[in-house]
Amino acid sequence: MINIPKGTKDVLPSEIYQWHHVEKIARETAETYAFKEIRTPVFEHTELFRRGVGDTTDIVNKEMYTFLDKGNRSVTLRPEGTAGVARAFLENGLANGAMPFKAYYLISAFRYERPQAGRLREFHQFGAELYGAAGASADAEIISLADRFLKNLGLKKVGLQINSIGCKTCRAQYQQALKEYFRPHLSKMCADCNARFEKNPLRMIDCKEENCKNFTANAPRMIDYLCEDCRAHFEEVKTLLGGAGIPFTVNPSIVRGLDYYSRTVFEFTSEAAGAQGTVLGGGRYDTLLEQMGEKPVPAVGFAAGMERILMVMAAENAPMPENRGVTCYLAGMDRASREKAFLLACELRSEGVSCEVDLMDRSVKAQFKYADKTKARFVAVIGERELAEQTAEVKDMKNSSSERVNFRALAQYCKEKI
Ligand code: ATP
Ligand code: MG
Repeated sequence: MINIPKGTKDVLPSEIYQWHHVEKIARETAETYAFKEIRTPVFEHTELFRRGVGDTTDIVNKEMYTFLDKGNRSVTLRPEGTAGVARAFLENGLANGAMPFKAYYLISAFRYERPQAGRLREFHQFGAELYGAAGASADAEIISLADRFLKNLGLKKVGLQINSIGCKTCRAQYQQALKEYFRPHLSKMCADCNARFEKNPLRMIDCKEENCKNFTANAPRMIDYLCEDCRAHFEEVKTLLGGAGIPFTVNPSIVRGLDYYSRTVFEFTSEAAGAQGTVLGGGRYDTLLEQMGEKPVPAVGFAAGMERILMVMAAENAPMPENRGVTCYLAGMDRASREKAFLLACELRSEGVSCEVDLMDRSVKAQFKYADKTKARFVAVIGERELAEQTAEVKDMKNSSSERVNFRALAQYCKEKI
C-alpha cells in the first residue's frame, strides 16, 4: 500500500461536518462584513511569492513546494493566500472597480515544514483582504471581522494581541537600534538569528528558540520608535477596537513572519493550539502591491489556520452541530416492498428529504442496525401489509416511538417532524 505523504491529512466523511460548520461560519461572517469570496489558482509563478512574500522569510527560503513544469517554468504551490489575491487584483484591473476591494478565501496552502500538532505540509486557511483604505478604520474592520468569526464559532479563550511595526522610515531607525543591541550577543544566538541579523533583524524578535528569547526579552521595542503618523494610526486602531468592545493586549514582540507588513500587526492566540499558539494572524501591508511592481495600494488582511481552529474548538468544547445521518431510512422486507422503498426514496429526495434504502440485500433487522449506526432519524418499514395499506410504519429513532404514515404523506411528515 502507498501511504499518505508526510504532513498531509485525509478529512474523512465521518468528520467533514466539522469542516463544513467552520467554513459556513467563515462565509457567513465574511459576508456580513460585505466581503465576497475570491478563488485563485493553487499554483502560481514562483516569482510571485518571491516578490510578494519576500525572500528574507522562512516561507520563501525553506518552505516552498517549487518545481519545474513540463514547459520548464518554475511554479510553486501557494504557501499562503495573500500574494495570489494581490496578483488577481492587479491582473484583473480591480482597482478600477468599486473601492475598497474586499475579498475572502478558503484555501489549502503548502509549506515544507517539520510536521507537528497544528503544523502540516498541506493545511487550510480562511483569510480576508481589504485593499484601498489606508486609514485605521480598515485595520479595525479587519480585526473586527476576525474577532467576530472566532466569536461566532463560540470560542472564548482566544486572545487578541496587537502591535505596530511602523513604516519604512521609522523602522529603519529601529532596525539600527536593534542591531546595536543584538551585536554583542550574536555569538550566543542561533544560526537563524545570525542570518536574520543581516537580512531582517526585526525577525529576531520572534525567534522561537528558548535561548534566543533570553536576549530578545530586553530588546528595544518598535512601539517606542514609531513616527508621529504611525503612532497616531496605532492609537486610532486601539480607540476603535476599544469602542467596539474587542479586548486586546499590546504585545511589542509580535512582528509577523512575512516581509510585507507595515504598521498594524495582530495575532489571535490560544493555549489550546499547542506550541503553535497562533490560530489567526494578520496586519497591514501597504508596500505589498508596490513590491509586486505596481503603484502602491494600501492593504490589510488576515489568515486563520483551519486545522488550528478545529483543535482549539475541540479543546474548548465549542458548540458543534450534530453529525447527522439521513432523515429517513426506508426498510423493505420482501422484493415488492423493497421496490416500493426505492420508488418512495426517489420521491422523498425530489422533495428535498434525504433518505436511503438498502443496497446490500440485508434483513430488516440488519437494515435497522445500519440505520442506527449511520444516525438516520426515522426508519420507515414497508412489508406486505404496509404495501396493501399504502402506509409505512415509521419509527422515530430518537425516542423509539412509532406511527403509521401514508406513503403520500411521508415527505411532509419527515419535514415537519425533524
Ligand atoms: P507559525 O508562526 O505558526 O509558523 P506563520 O506566521 O508561519 O505561523 P502565517 O503565515 O501568518 O503563519 O499563516 C496564518 C495562519 O495559518 C497561522 O496563524 C496558522 O494558524 C496557520 N498556519 C501557518 N502555517 C501552518 C502550517 N504549516 N500548518 C497548519 N497551519 C498553519
Ligand atoms: Mg510559519
